Amino acid sequence: MSKPEKLIIDGKRLDGRGAQDLRPIKFKAGVLKRADGSCYLEFGGNKVIAAVYGPREVHPRHLQDASRAIVRYRYNMAPFSVEERKRPGPDRRSIEISKVSRESLECVILQEMYPRSAIDIFVEILQADAGTRVAGINAASVALADAGIPMKCLVSACAVGKVDDTLVLDLNKDEDNYGQADLPIAMTPSGDITLCQMDGHLTEDEFRTALEMAMEGCRYIHQLQKQALIEKYGQMVSPPAQEA
Ligand code: ADP
Repeated sequence: MSKPEKLIIDGKRLDGRGAQDLRPIKFKAGVLKRADGSCYLEFGGNKVIAAVYGPREVHPRHLQDASRAIVRYRYNMAPFSVEERKRPGPDRRSIEISKVSRESLECVILQEMYPRSAIDIFVEILQADAGTRVAGINAASVALADAGIPMKCLVSACAVGKVDDTLVLDLNKDEDNYGQADLPIAMTPSGDITLCQMDGHLTEDEFRTALEMAMEGCRYIHQLQKQALIEKYGQMVSPPAQEA
């Protein structure tokens, strides 16, 4: 799509949202039979699957750490996930996203409990619509919990940005393409920031407001993540029905 003249008209964004609104979000935990933990997530037009394996033996063995589990994270965009077919395989962008996403989750995983082992996280972007790195982190966090990996807490993530001189939560594709700034954030429920990147320019005041907006978005997403896990495990932990 060519650059629209305006991205915000009468206070509404082109997809009808207000500045503080997230796109519709749907989590489903435990969707893959053969992974130890998994999650499917729809986040606006993004469709993402996260799969977790481990803790398991590390190969090659020289990668083992005697004091803790290593965490590996692979972010991958499917060739059919974007408008023009994407060349399969890793590129600079996916290597960077894999690194920062791993770091955003590593700090909540109790790695010391599993020395010499590996926790592998695979994130597949099936359909991309801006904000895939934050969508991947949200899905991976639920998949880690689904795999029973001991963690201090879940990590929740969303982006905030600036378009038409206005701060907006959760950029869509046009806003990402033609906006003035993009700030993906991940955080723990207690407010520790585990990912903070920025493209574009914001003043110091705008940055503070943007961060508060993103944190509000993360708090809401955290509720949805918990709900997805309760949906899968709630029934398993409730007491068995009494026989008549
Ligand atoms: P994020 O997806 O985390 O916002 P970027 O800002 O790098 O990361 O990408 C923004 C959006 O641009 C992606 O969500 C996707 O819709 C699109 N995009 C990224 N890489 C490609 C690509 N190789 N081909 C086509 N579209 C892409």
